[in-house]
Amino acid sequence: MTKSICVYCGSRDGSDPAFADAAEALGRGIADRGWRLVYGAGDVGLMGRVARTVQAAGAETFGVIPTHLLQAEVGKQDLTRFVVTETMHERKKVMFMNADAVIVLPGGAGTLDEFFEVLTWRQLGLHGKPIVIANVADYWTPLIALLEATVTGGFAERTLLDYVRSAPDTEAALKLLD
Ligand code: AMP
Repeated sequence: MTKSICVYCGSRDGSDPAFADAAEALGRGIADRGWRLVYGAGDVGLMGRVARTVQAAGAETFGVIPTHLLQAEVGKQDLTRFVVTETMHERKKVMFMNADAVIVLPGGAGTLDEFFEVLTWRQLGLHGKPIVIANVADYWTPLIALLEATVTGGFAERTLLDYVRSAPDTEAALKLLD
């Protein structure tokens, strides 16, 4: 069965070359499995790298971008499916609706926003889709510590930690979804 993997990641490359390498490795891993990439339809940063790699390997891509970011994030119109939304909220909804699982690569505030939205939806029981953090070069270790702090601080049930799995690299992240 074709799985659709929603990838949240930076619209920049970040400071460690390991991030770009990981984005390309993830794209190859998705394509090798015959899976489909769902993402934010930009052709910048890690987003663009994942998409170009999936495309080059002949696999399907589904991108969703809001009108106002078409220029800033260089809307990648040659995707298998290219959807333009009015708002950021619609973008996130359409991406998530069309995905079976989420992988989080290194990224900035936008990536965190997307991650926390699907995590809180999971906490509320609104979905049961796997969420996997690809902890490339330990980039997300502080995020994992922060999630643990919400539990030890008494602001979340320990089950919160069960909703997120982490893997040291993209291949291990994909293996969790095989
Ligand atoms: P960043 O990690 O900040 O580079 O952002 C990664 C992606 O998340 C970019 O495509 C941003 O446009 C997107 N993004 C940022 N904030 C939001 C939001 N509130 N809703 C949907 N996408 C967002």
